Amino acid sequence: MPVFIDTYQSLLKQCILENILLIIVSKKQSVNDILTLYHVGQKDFGENYVQELVEKQGQLPTDIRWHFIGHLQTNKVKYIAPFIHLIQSVDSISLLLEINKQAIKNNRIIHILIQIKIAIDDSKTGLLIQDLDSFLNEAKNCSNVIINGFMGITSLTNNEEQIKKEFYILYTLFNKYKSTPFNILSMGMSNDYTIAIKTGSNLIRIGSLVFGTR
Ligand SMILES: *Cc1c(COP(=O)(O)O)cnc(C)c1O
Repeated sequence: MPVFIDTYQSLLKQCILENILLIIVSKKQSVNDILTLYHVGQKDFGENYVQELVEKQGQLPTDIRWHFIGHLQTNKVKYIAPFIHLIQSVDSISLLLEINKQAIKNNRIIHILIQIKIAIDDSKTGLLIQDLDSFLNEAKNCSNVIINGFMGITSLTNNEEQIKKEFYILYTLFNKYKSTPFNILSMGMSNDYTIAIKTGSNLIRIGSLVFGTR
């Protein structure tokens, strides 16, 4: 598979100028292609599948910051708990509690984002906004979890107005809770990151733009 270094570097430049954290989504990409980007300075990578992540983590430099961005089953938290940098896809109280439990076991603090459901299609997961308060209440008892913000995925559509609307919902919610350390708004992938940045995102998750289509 190709790695589009020029595209990566111009994207990175934009992100630095606008104070946005660039996560390179390396799911289904080879260890070698990840290393190519690592060697030009990229340290934050996102993965969707636990087994794939654990295998790659074992083969790659230890200063890579791994972000988990896929649907996470509670029974698999234990495999990533020893090293994960940020779990961006926490969408239920049971998952939160399991992450806290595994964080304690590993004597670590685990940082998370709450994935909020903003897409109107049923296929996209995420915590419903109406369940946010009870989630945050539970989180008060989680000694080893720090919530750093929100993550959202828009509907699979080309309708820019719809995408804008969905990002805006999360941006508005984020502004209600924004503080230290609740200061990350993870919105935007290859096809919608421009709109996401305009709508206040400060972390984008980019795969196919840099690696080509999977
Ligand atoms: C795959 C994935 C991405 C990257 O998608 P691209 O369209 O390849 O940029 C970003 N976020 C999540 C949650 C993903 O699953």
